[in-house]
Amino acid sequence: MPLIVQKFGGTSVANSKKILAAARKAVRAHQQGNQVVMVVSAMGKNTDTLIKLSKEINEKPPAREMDMLLSTGEQVSVALMAMAIDSMGFKAVSLTGGQIGIKTDSSHTKARIHSISTERMKRLLDEGNIVIAAGFQGIDEDLNITTLGRGGSDTTAVALAAVLGADQCEVYTDVDGIYTTDPRKLPEARLVKRVCYDEMLELASLGAGVMHSRSIEFGKKFNVPIHVRSSLSDVPGSLIVDTAGSSALPVSGAALTRDEALISVVDVPDVAGTIHKIFAPIADKKITVDMIVQNVSAGGTTDISFTVPHEEMDDALAAITEVVTELGGRMGNRDDRVSKVSAVGLGMAHQAGVANRMFRSLADAGVNLQIITTSEIKISVLVKRDVAIEALRTVHAEFELDQPNEQEAADVETEARRATSAVDAVDVINRLQGAGMEALMIDDITLDSTQSRITLHKIPNQPGLAANLFERVAAAGVFVDMIVQSYGSDQIADITFTVGRDQLAEALKVAQAVSDETGCQGVDHKEAIAKLSVSGIGLRSHTGVAIAMFGALANSGVNVEMVNTSEVQVNVVVDGADGAKGLEQLKQAFADSIR
Ligand code: ADP
Ligand code: ASP
Ligand code: MG
Repeated sequence: MPLIVQKFGGTSVANSKKILAAARKAVRAHQQGNQVVMVVSAMGKNTDTLIKLSKEINEKPPAREMDMLLSTGEQVSVALMAMAIDSMGFKAVSLTGGQIGIKTDSSHTKARIHSISTERMKRLLDEGNIVIAAGFQGIDEDLNITTLGRGGSDTTAVALAAVLGADQCEVYTDVDGIYTTDPRKLPEARLVKRVCYDEMLELASLGAGVMHSRSIEFGKKFNVPIHVRSSLSDVPGSLIVDTAGSSALPVSGAALTRDEALISVVDVPDVAGTIHKIFAPIADKKITVDMIVQNVSAGGTTDISFTVPHEEMDDALAAITEVVTELGGRMGNRDDRVSKVSAVGLGMAHQAGVANRMFRSLADAGVNLQIITTSEIKISVLVKRDVAIEALRTVHAEFELDQPNEQEAADVETEARRATSAVDAVDVINRLQGAGMEALMIDDITLDSTQSRITLHKIPNQPGLAANLFERVAAAGVFVDMIVQSYGSDQIADITFTVGRDQLAEALKVAQAVSDETGCQGVDHKEAIAKLSVSGIGLRSHTGVAIAMFGALANSGVNVEMVNTSEVQVNVVVDGADGAKGLEQLKQAFADSIR
């Protein structure tokens, strides 16, 4: 009998009427001959209310007790849902995470799933019950209740679909599906029929709160197509699958992370180990570092800028002040009124001239870019928070995300049902060999020795420079790979980018001309650089990956010159002569995570 997992988010179970409506959907699926597992979130804003209540009592509540408290939200909903189904004359059993056997690690409030037992659920399903699972929660080895982090019910749902080998995984929410950007931020956002895992991973971690990013890691790892749709309407919704909608479009979505904070560290020695010394204490505090940008050295020292979630700025500052002083550097600018705007698309990996379009549109809108980082499938810029929505709108319009997409052909309903055979959870679990379902999974570590680096020093920090530079580079037919613009001290920025070595001469000519015309303080370059890349699944949510790379390279005396991170790949640039050694070090460091 086909098995379907249906997840209902908070707004979809916010009151008794909505609970009854959700119950009817499950009953209908059951009547159509499916076994049904429901995953249910806490009602409405109940989780927020519980958090607020806890803070009234204790400003820093113990994490274990927080989980004990927050898990009650989902417990209320599952019980009511079972009652709703019973009232319709069908059999239903509600289960907590612990009762299902969702085993997690012990990191309270952000626990990761180790394993899930399917026996009890299967038995109940075979007995004709609709199984109702509490989302967002699990249990650790000592039977402590844990939660998976805000929004974690999505992850429960996709994980259950994976281990049960479900034929369909439906996520019911309060919008019609996945949009090109948050429709509550930009009303002109367009519903997309299909988005691939990598794009959704990026979008989710860059601020598209519609899906918990770890749920997409599960989807990708276990090949579970995820069907996101409205609990209020019958619109077919969107599919998150392994192939993109139309790779002809360079950008398929845009996202805004509103509350970021920028920290810069200046005048630290540009030698192996510096970057590791700075980020290790931040990682110890489990603070997620997001954009990391390092200036290319001038006079043996370097500046490093990075962003952290706004509310973690003080903790991050406290964590590094001492080590920065020990290194002989000092703390540079900090700014907790910045936001990050990103464009994401699989298509951009193979098209030249995408970044410059984004920079030009922002420059024309008068938006100044404080930091830029790019990776294979995303471009992110840091801007002042008060212009963030305008910047998002500009990028969204530039890539015509508000326009109907003719090429997008997908019969969502049918494709969502074609899922079954794709899921081979047993195989993946075997490959994970007891390391845990959410263990870090690295698929490749590579060395690219074909590129060169160019840096424009001390560019005037005004709108338009990046646009001008990269437009002219693109016009010269040069394909740019990585771009970083740092911020550093005194509002002065550097731009560094990499190009294929065979195009270095062309690119240098353009860079020199732009530098002369705009009053930058010179151009420098390095012909032989090595780009080392670690790729896998969910690298950013495993905050330790970049740090582990820095550590491994530091141990062998390899200096990191550039960094960029994304969900699926972390890249560092080192001196060309260190490439082979660096590759070896990284292979050793991640030997246990390659699967
Ligand atoms: P649920 O309670 O169902 O889990 P969430 O509030 O977690 O719902 O997620 C749904 C919300 O995500 C929407 O109301 C929307 O504002 C927001 N959102 C952010 N980015 C996107 C996007 N790209 N597409 C759709 N919704 C988005
Ligand atoms: N109730 C939890 C939250 O609000 C989990 C979820 O809804 O996904 O974050
Ligand atoms: Mg959610």
